[in-house]
Amino acid sequence: MSTVNTIGSGSSSVSGGVVGQHATVAPETDPDTRWWWEALGRGELLVPHCTSCDGSFFPPTPACPHCGSTALDRRPSTGLGRIYSWITVHIAQDPAFVGEVPYTVVAVHLDEGARLFGRIANGPLEDADRVRAVPYSVDGTVLLGFERVSE
Ligand SMILES: [Zn+2]
Repeated sequence: MSTVNTIGSGSSSVSGGVVGQHATVAPETDPDTRWWWEALGRGELLVPHCTSCDGSFFPPTPACPHCGSTALDRRPSTGLGRIYSWITVHIAQDPAFVGEVPYTVVAVHLDEGARLFGRIANGPLEDADRVRAVPYSVDGTVLLGFERVSE
C-alpha cells in the first residue's frame, strides 16, 4: 500500500481507505488534466490560475472560464476550504462501488477560489464546515478526499 503526503501544512501520511474507499475506477485524463493528476499523485494539490483576471478555477481547461484568457499558471493550494455542498450516494453508479455505499462526496470551495470534489472522511456535515484536502491511494491511484477540521 503506497502512502501520500498530506496536502498543506501537515506532515502526516495517509494511505488507501482513509475515506473508506476501497475500489477505484482510474480517472480519465487528457492533455488538459494530466498534470493535475500527476501532481496529486506526488501529494501536491495544484489549482489552475489565470494571470489575467487573478481567478482560480477547476477543472483545468485551456482557457480561463472567467475571462477566456490563455495566460494561465498553476498555484499550490493549502488544501483548506469550506463545504459548498455534498451528496450521500446510496445507489452505486458503477459496479466497482456497490460494496461501498453509502458514501459522501463533498463540493469544497477552496480558500484559493476553486471548487473541487472528493469523498469526505468524517461527518456529519454542515454547510460551510471547514475542511482540508487529504489525498489517498487506492490500488496505486491517488484520489482527492477531504476531512473536516476545527476552525
Ligand atoms: Zn481569467
